[in-house]
Amino acid sequence: MHDEGIGAWAERRARRTPHRTAVVHGDGRRMSYAGLYAHATRIAHTLRHHGVRKGDRVGFLGPNRPEFLACLFATGLLGAVFVPFNVRLGPPELAYQLTDCGARVLLRTGRSPGAPAGTGVPVVEVDATGEAAPAPPVEESVAPGDPYVILYTSGTTGHPKGAVLTHANLTWNAVNVLIDMDLTADETALIAAPLYHAAALGMQALPVLLKGGTCVLMESFDAGAALGAVERHRVTSLFGVPTMFRRIAAHPRWPDADLSSLRTLVCGGAQVPEALAVTYARRGLVLRQGYGMTEAAPGVLLAPPGPAGVAPGPAGVPHLFTDVRVVVAGPDGPAGSGAVRADEGDAGAEGGDGGDGGDGGDRAVDAAVGETGELLVRGPNVMAGYWNRPQESTAVFTDGWLHTGDAARVDADGGVTVVDRIKEMIISGGENIYPAEVEHALLAHPGVADCAVIPVPDTEWGEVGRAVLVAAPGVLLDPDEVLASLSGRLAGYKIPRTAVVAPDLPRTATGKAVRRQLKDRYGAP
Ligand code: ATP
Ligand code: MG
Repeated sequence: MHDEGIGAWAERRARRTPHRTAVVHGDGRRMSYAGLYAHATRIAHTLRHHGVRKGDRVGFLGPNRPEFLACLFATGLLGAVFVPFNVRLGPPELAYQLTDCGARVLLRTGRSPGAPAGTGVPVVEVDATGEAAPAPPVEESVAPGDPYVILYTSGTTGHPKGAVLTHANLTWNAVNVLIDMDLTADETALIAAPLYHAAALGMQALPVLLKGGTCVLMESFDAGAALGAVERHRVTSLFGVPTMFRRIAAHPRWPDADLSSLRTLVCGGAQVPEALAVTYARRGLVLRQGYGMTEAAPGVLLAPPGPAGVAPGPAGVPHLFTDVRVVVAGPDGPAGSGAVRADEGDAGAEGGDGGDGGDGGDRAVDAAVGETGELLVRGPNVMAGYWNRPQESTAVFTDGWLHTGDAARVDADGGVTVVDRIKEMIISGGENIYPAEVEHALLAHPGVADCAVIPVPDTEWGEVGRAVLVAAPGVLLDPDEVLASLSGRLAGYKIPRTAVVAPDLPRTATGKAVRRQLKDRYGAP
């Protein structure tokens, strides 16, 4: 009966394609599907020996190594819940998450730190090097709705929350990805983003292993090593945050590296600058923007590839089994045309059958074409709630639609463009300014390598924008000249009042600018 869980994928693939390579480690070590399943069963028995039973949480601390995947499937075979932690967490943050999820054991591999003192959680070292003797199969019944992985959100807007993803959530996301990314059995995916984030796990590892392809693991991202790995392993697909793709294109080896094997490039986690997509298009590579969130396991929108050599625009289409809506708070009235069902090619006609939302609390209506509102998501990939946070879990849903907290608009073709987080919106003299839109315009200036726009208190306007600029190498930036370059490109009220030059922007592991830190540092009036 354990067939319905993701743990069984390892067993079925081991039967179907035992000798194919499932995982290649950075040091060149290869693990076949038979080997992956053998290690998974062996680790499952070790976990049982430590008292792990169905539903128990199993913590994992380690970088992208074969052990990560072996432990993921081992936990799945037992019907237990896998909780991978960010290896960069400080001891107090790790202690918080370990206690929050109530882990029974902490699996550890590589040079990762152990459990912080005082949590009382036993640490078990795992090693999946070499051949594993096959262990007896693990008998446990797992249902699709059983929790499988708890992933903590990035904590960009507050304390990280544990999104509880079921076997079904991750399976449906894998189905969406296999359909929309056209992954094949000959896929060789370079997994350079950390697997403890939803993107590498959901957009790469799980769908690729379901299909029988190969995952090439990088323990930590390095642009030169990534280019080398693409050539050596003839990598066909790559996912990364904008920072990673920017570093790859800025590497001295970029002009000469053989990238002819690359077929599918997906960039997400933060807005993809237009110039970046153009840089890749000039090499004949199509950099598609993906939008997702931990709570959606994680895929929501993906830009269609379009013709080779042309940079795809920012707009994405919802995955096949996932629906989105854009809503605005509004008086009662006819629903607009903001609802997009994955099975309707064109969103322009009617409000869609989701137009009954917003019953709870303030009334929301679907936004008109081109109007910016909040993006809502619904589908079999969307979590049921956060771990241990009943109130936040209830608050984030309206009639089954998950509130993303992101602002978006739907264009006439049904494409959905994510504008920014609603929380980041700057209100200046009653006008709404989305910093990401302004950052986009600033990045078009050749001297600007990176930037962020933050609010600064202002007695007249309430708040005004300030641009924090990072100069391109060897450029001496004149902040006023950069601001002047925006006139005619952006409405006057959107142009930041002031600009400062910074050496660097603080970013999270998922490539997002840490605005709290920026506001502390540069946000004084
Ligand atoms: P927390 O929820 O703890 O504040 P987080 O939202 O950053 O952290 P994640 O789940 O890793 O945690 O990130 C999802 C968010 O990332 C989305 O809600 C959105 O704000 C942003 N995001 C992801 N992809 C894109 C994209 N292509 N364009 C713009 N924003 C994106
Ligand atoms: Mg979030």
